[in-house]
Amino acid sequence: MSTLKAVRGTRDLLPPETELWNRVEETARRVFARYHFGEIRTPIFEDTSLFARGVGEETDIVSKEMYTWEDRARAQSEKAQSLTLRPENTAGVVRAYIEHKLGDKGLLQKLFYIGPQFRRERPQKGRYRQFWQIGAEVIGPPSSGSESPLRDAEVLEMLASFLNELGIRDWKLTLNSVGSASDRPRYIEALREALKENAPGMCVDCQRRAETNPLRVLDCKVPEDQPIIETLPKIAEYLDDDSKARFAAVCAALDACAVSYEVNPRLVRGLDYYTRTTFEFSHGELGAQNALVGGGRYDGLSEAIGGSKAPGIGFAIGEDRLILTLQAQAEAVAEGSADAYVAPLGEAMNAAALELARYLRQAGLRIELGDGGFRLKKSFEMGNKLARKIVLFGEDEQKSGILTVKDFATGEQVKVAREELVHHLRAKGDAPPQGRL
Ligand code: AMP
Repeated sequence: MSTLKAVRGTRDLLPPETELWNRVEETARRVFARYHFGEIRTPIFEDTSLFARGVGEETDIVSKEMYTWEDRARAQSEKAQSLTLRPENTAGVVRAYIEHKLGDKGLLQKLFYIGPQFRRERPQKGRYRQFWQIGAEVIGPPSSGSESPLRDAEVLEMLASFLNELGIRDWKLTLNSVGSASDRPRYIEALREALKENAPGMCVDCQRRAETNPLRVLDCKVPEDQPIIETLPKIAEYLDDDSKARFAAVCAALDACAVSYEVNPRLVRGLDYYTRTTFEFSHGELGAQNALVGGGRYDGLSEAIGGSKAPGIGFAIGEDRLILTLQAQAEAVAEGSADAYVAPLGEAMNAAALELARYLRQAGLRIELGDGGFRLKKSFEMGNKLARKIVLFGEDEQKSGILTVKDFATGEQVKVAREELVHHLRAKGDAPPQGRL
């Protein structure tokens, strides 16, 4: 019998990596709480029509990538219900917002979620069929101020703070406005017109999109199509004065709190309900799948799935990609390791080394304890694999109270008095720079 393996595109998350996942999620909870977000947990599967209406039939997600099945009918008279594993969480959150009448008090709802999503994409580095998103939505009736550009800027500033606090360096924020529901038809018409001439020279997907959903042509990643895409009309030329003023207000608020960004007139979300601000955070460490966070405003979504008008803005962070980025950064590797490996020098030192480890652990440090039976070389090898530093503990050290500590990353070896040891081991070297905030 062949051995069973995790299904293609899915994977097991194991220690010590799970520690990093927990750190990411704890940081998200801590940062989002400061902005007064509350957690929402929606079901992992929903009625298929929610995604057809809430994400859009024409999107790749809905047309190609969903895990959908017919649920067994409960009674013969009943029709089987079509169910789908959620490919994203915004539609589920907005459904819950409508179902529980969360907007009835006229207040803004600020909700975040952390959980797995499912898309039948071709697996590669940074792209999985089960992947995790950390996302948030700010939604409410127009009277709650949900349409204000200040909400957009606040959400973007929160994301910048989150990435910085996590120690992600060199992220890039790209921003655009796709205009209002009334700007869009004029732009789409212009795009359709331009594509009549150009689409035949583009990839087959673009030829189809030119007919079905011309906005999605701008999302095309095929290198040969890029020069053509460059020549197509830009949405900025079709924004009315109100949309222009709102976009300028978002940019001004970001400038005021020194969050850096770049405007990319090609950044669109090809869904009908997406309006005004769209954005993406990307990272150079990620290679082809370089998008870390995607988000935007969806002022028409609630109405599209049967609710009353409830403008909103939200984002989804790809947690798997966040972890990949952190792993590529040296601090993260050190974070996953123990703070120190205590190496007793000789078996006679074992009991005293256990006492030293207990003392350090009680101070809150993560300590690995070696064995006095190991040769020094083996202690160094083990320590290097498990911890950031090694503490050598022999008879001399016990008598003098002065210990030898070596930092594996820098190679530096120093003598540290026992009473200074906790302080010394707690210092993690250079703190990650606070990015551009
Ligand atoms: P989207 O919902 O498509 O806007 O995606 C938001 C974020 O989720 C992206 O920027 C990625 O970081 C992440 N993401 C989307 N699809 C996948 C996938 N198949 N595997 C891993 N991460 C993904």
